[in-house]
Amino acid sequence: MTGGAGFIGSHLIDRLLAHGHDVTCADNLFTGSRRNIEHLQGHAGFTFLQHDVTTPLFVEVDEIYNLACPASPVHYQHDPVMTIKTSVLGAINMLGLAKRLGCKIFQASTSEVYGDPAVHPQPEGYWGNVNPIGPRSCYDEGKRCAETLFFDYHREHGVAIKVARIFNTYGPRMHHADGRVVSNFVVQALSGAPITLYGDGSQTRSFCYVDDTVEGCIRLMETGPMVTGPVNLGNPVEFTIRDLAQQIVDLTGSRSGFIHRDLPQDDPKQRRPDTALAERLLGWSPRVALDEGLAQTVAYFSARLSELKGLSATG
Ligand code: NAD
Ligand code: UDP
Ligand code: UDP
Repeated sequence: MTGGAGFIGSHLIDRLLAHGHDVTCADNLFTGSRRNIEHLQGHAGFTFLQHDVTTPLFVEVDEIYNLACPASPVHYQHDPVMTIKTSVLGAINMLGLAKRLGCKIFQASTSEVYGDPAVHPQPEGYWGNVNPIGPRSCYDEGKRCAETLFFDYHREHGVAIKVARIFNTYGPRMHHADGRVVSNFVVQALSGAPITLYGDGSQTRSFCYVDDTVEGCIRLMETGPMVTGPVNLGNPVEFTIRDLAQQIVDLTGSRSGFIHRDLPQDDPKQRRPDTALAERLLGWSPRVALDEGLAQTVAYFSARLSELKGLSATG
């Protein structure tokens, strides 16, 4: 697994090890951390390689999950050239590895391939509405190019591919400072800081708890050779960002107020997956409701913030 020290990857590794697989995690620790995988050190089935996917990787494995890529807008815009190299060169190297080994390969693609969608909800057949030269393009176009590479390696070299388009996923082990909306709002609510609504908060997203996303990824990987994707994986229940903020304030009993900040350029106005294909192909639909998933996430950040406070107090 590439990107296995990150948020989704570390949960996916936990699940695969629990199923009895051995897992090699290749990660350069750009946005991931050893902390997310430290409970696995000493596990006989787990190996960690500090590795950057923009360079070739020679290992012997039976299947590949390719997740390496910063995922939050703050992180992927930090070094946009590196972001697009990670998606494109990372895909080429991992597809080269899959081709040599004759093994199947999963790609963590994204709802961002739909850009600021003009079709709602988004089915896999929709080609999207992406600005090719904006601040989000390094991520969106990198992921779109990676999908192209996956399908060309499939058509030209017969590589078995599994492309998932993952929609906004949240849960424990998100980075507390990665700028994504759920982690921002929960951290702000818990620390009594104002909740930062970008724009008027009327834009929508659909939030999937990480356990559901991971289950969908594994089910897609386990499909037969005829299934390539792309398949949407996400929760079809849609909320405005203002609703999300209110729900988090209510859940935490926070006294935080709201403040408005400018809406970032090209921020999609609406997003909701059409999950009919995932239901039909994988028998999958999300099980965890937002209030349930948020309760787990709040408990995680509450413990994490105390830990960080303890660290800063001890210098
Ligand atoms: P994350 O930032 O927590 O994890 C990404 C991991 O990739 C990190 O461990 C990071 O260190 C590693 N990485 C980055 N560049 C690398 C490189 N060049 N070489 C090796 N490792 C590298 O993000 P996440 O939320 O866990 O996302 C995982 C994957 O899922 C990403 O590909 C992301 O695009 C995709 N995805 C996530 C979401 C979401 O809502 N979380 C939605 C759609 C798609
Ligand atoms: N590659 C890799 N590990 C392997 C096999 C290939 O990292 O086990 C890399 C290889 O370095 C190359 C890329 O994957 O840059 C694409 O490989 P492919 O065989 O498709 O292309 P070619 O080597 O012919 O350019
Ligand atoms: N957002 C917000 N306040 C924040 C962080 C994000 O209002 O502190 C908004 C952001 O403008 C976007 C939505 O929440 O409309 C989701 O943002 P995120 O960065 O989590 O993911 P993405 O835009 O990639 O879906």
